[in-house]
Amino acid sequence: MIGIFGGTFDPIHLGHLNIAEHCTKQLSLEKLYFMPCATPPHKSSANVSADDRKNMINLAIKYNKKFDLDTRELNRTGASYTILSLRELNVKFPDQSILFLIGMDSLNTLDTWYHWQEITQLCHLVICQRPGQTFNPSVNTLNYLAQAKTSNIESLKSHKAGKAYFLKTPTLDVSSTNIRENITQFDSITNLLPKAVCQYIAQNNLYFSA
Ligand code: ATP
Repeated sequence: MIGIFGGTFDPIHLGHLNIAEHCTKQLSLEKLYFMPCATPPHKSSANVSADDRKNMINLAIKYNKKFDLDTRELNRTGASYTILSLRELNVKFPDQSILFLIGMDSLNTLDTWYHWQEITQLCHLVICQRPGQTFNPSVNTLNYLAQAKTSNIESLKSHKAGKAYFLKTPTLDVSSTNIRENITQFDSITNLLPKAVCQYIAQNNLYFSA
């Protein structure tokens, strides 16, 4: 099984790495690919360049051999629709289950995603708790969960896609928004993201004028 972790990663932080590590270990993933988007469909555009976001991800994932970077959305023009990436990934990995990792805030808005029902047919969703985000999905998403939810890891392996699995992880109250705000207010960010990413932000003067 492989994992895909999509996001803006503006910047990548310990909240991302926390759920990525738990997902990789608990579900014995072969690889987990961080897939930064170019143009987020659901929020305003990123605050720093795609190259900077990519460089920060590379610094953050360097010491975990199971982690890798997938740049397909950065290389594509137009809005970074997850469905387009999942179609391609299913061609690239025809024999693998694809697990798409999301936080609770993303589950709550799932049925606003472009072609969301096809998304749920092209991957398993792995959903993580996120501080400040309660389980509050739409009726459409609840209907999907009613038939897709499983707590059986074997079922994720034996089905190529279509399941929803709630991963139990410790939670970390970190968001990229919070980090960007701290930077502009000259508050500390050192306990919110890996040291190498902190250094990269300082060296490249990122986010100070956000
Ligand atoms: P922003 O604050 O700019 O909206 P973000 O911190 O939510 O950014 P994203 O890159 O947009 O980060 O998130 C990508 C994915 O990671 C989303 O599915 C989101 O729910 C999840 N995620 C981000 N931070 C956490 C966290 N602390 N705990 C659990 N999931 C998280």
